[in-house]
Order: sequence, then structure tokens, then C-alpha cells
Amino acid sequence: NVREAGGDNIGSLSNATHKAINRKSIIEKRLLLALDQQDLKVLYQPLVNNHTGKIIAAEALVRWEDEEIGVVSPDELIPIAEETGLINNIGSFMIEEACKQAAEWQKEGFDLKVSINLSVREFRDKNMAKSILNILSKTNCPANLIQIEITEKFALEAEAETSIIKQMRKLESEGIVFVLDDFGTGYASFRYMQLLPIEILKIDQMFVASLLQSEKTQRLINGMVQFGKSMNLTVLAEGVETNEQRELLKDYGCDAIQGFLISKPVAESEISKLLKNEK
Ligand code: C2E
Ligand code: MG
Ligand code: MG
Ligand code: MG
Repeated sequence: NVREAGGDNIGSLSNATHKAINRKSIIEKRLLLALDQQDLKVLYQPLVNNHTGKIIAAEALVRWEDEEIGVVSPDELIPIAEETGLINNIGSFMIEEACKQAAEWQKEGFDLKVSINLSVREFRDKNMAKSILNILSKTNCPANLIQIEITEKFALEAEAETSIIKQMRKLESEGIVFVLDDFGTGYASFRYMQLLPIEILKIDQMFVASLLQSEKTQRLINGMVQFGKSMNLTVLAEGVETNEQRELLKDYGCDAIQGFLISKPVAESEISKLLKNEK
């Protein structure tokens, strides 16, 4: 009978698959609750000018520690949130937090932008640009204080969807800056460079990680930096952990860096301290 067949089906899944499905549904349930109870947190990681060493922006990164299941890393959380649609709720929360914080830092006299990561799924909502502009005005945050980080996967899908491109252009015209995150690791298509309003290239940390050990990687990163420059983009390298990496990147003409060498992602009060020390 049907019930038995269903039972057999589940029984035939491997133990690991079964566990994964289980964990996913638990995360989904707990995430709904966390969003409801405003249990998500935001940490900020500085992006610094590689020549002056000054902080030019802070990237907002989501953090979640659940009472029952403990810490869930963004690498686990974000894909599940994208699948279930809860990414839109995370996005709204992050945008609002980022805007409040950017406005706050400006009020305190600091000159920096706040970067947020958004998924392509969020831009499928035809009202995404409008919602972002609404949050900006609600939080008294000037649009030019906000950067939106998108990935190559986002870029590739946006290419084919005119409504996404339109929304990006709308936001750009208001002063929001778009950053291409994880550059070099996604789907290689240069068409998005033609179509999308990207101003900053973030070279993925996986390249930076092997920079010192591999001459091939050195040529590759140097080439990426020159490419970005020829496109009039600001080029940033992420995942910079050592001074040697920083110096080599400086030699290539890389404009900005981000990574543990400067600071791990920290609470906003820690960023304020760093900013005060600069003055
Ligand atoms: P990402 O946007 O490329 O962020 C950089 C990641 O590298 C962060 O991990 C950061 O903590 C880590 N990192 C920074 N500097 C270093 C370094 O020097 N060495 C090493 N080993 N790692 C470094 P995190 O916070 O775990 O986030 C992982 C990814 O999850 C992010 O990659 C981003 O794609 C996504 N993510 C994080 N927060 C959000 C969010 O609020 N919304 C969305 N849609 N995605 C998010
Ligand atoms: Mg990012
Ligand atoms: Mg990245
Ligand atoms: Mg990454």
C-alpha cells in the first residue's frame, strides 16, 4: 500500500541524506523563529584603502547562534534561506541594519560606506529597488553610503532578466554602488561587465590564499587587477591575512584590501573604535 511504499522510499535514502534533510528542515523552522524574535546579528568587517590604510567601507555579515542548534554559519544558512525564500527576510533585516549603521556612522562624523550581500533571488521581487529606497528614507540613510555586493552567479542570471538590470540601474542612479564579489570563481561571462553597473571588483579570497606559493596565481591576480583598472573599476582583494600578500597586491596596483590582517568581522562598536583611532 501507499504508506508502506512511502516508508520504503524513505528507508532507501542513505543515512547521510536523511540527516541532511532533517537538519535543513530544523534550520528552516528555527530560522523562522529567529527572524520573528530578531535573533540574527550583524558583524562588520572593514575594507581599507591599500595605500592610505584608511577604512573606506564596512561589510555587513549575518551571524546566527540558535539556542537549540548552535551557530549556523552563513555558508550553511544562506543556501537554505535561498531555497526556502527566507532569504528575503534576511535581506530586509540586513539592509535595515546596514542603513541604520551607515547613517549612525555618518552622524558621528565618519566617512565610510556599508556593504551588504544580496542574492539574485531577492532581485526577482520586482519591488526590490523600491523597498531598498524605502528603507533608505525610513532610516535617513543617503543612498551613496550603501554598497550592494553581488556574485558572478547573480550577474549571470541578471544578464537574462531585464527587470533585474533595470532595478540595478535605478539604484545606481540614486547613488548605490555595486560590488562584484568572489570575482573569478563563478561562471565566466564578460557580458555582465557590459550590462551591469558594477564599480568595484572583489578578487576572491581563494586566489589570495595561494598568492605567495604560486607564480601562476601571481600572474592571474596581477591580470585581474589590470583588467579591473582597464575597466575603470576599483579593485579590492579579500581574504588578505599577511603583510607579504598585502605588499604584493600593492605592487600590482590593487586599490583596496579586506581580511584578517586588518580585522576579522567585529561588532559595530569595534569598527567605531578603529575609526576613532584613525582620527
Ligand atoms: P563573502 O561576501 O565573500 O564574505 C567574505 C567571507 O570571508 C566572510 O565569511 C568573512 O568572514 C570571511 N573572511 C574575511 N576575511 C577573511 C580572511 O582574511 N581569511 C579567511 N579565511 N576568511 C575571511 P562569512 O561571514 O562566513 O560569510 C560567508 C559568505 O556568506 C559571504 O561571503 C557571503 O557570500 C555570504 N553572506 C554572509 N552574510 C550574508 C548576508 O547577510 N546575506 C547574504 N545574501 N549572504 C551573506
Ligand atoms: Mg561579500
Ligand atoms: Mg567574497
Ligand atoms: Mg566568499
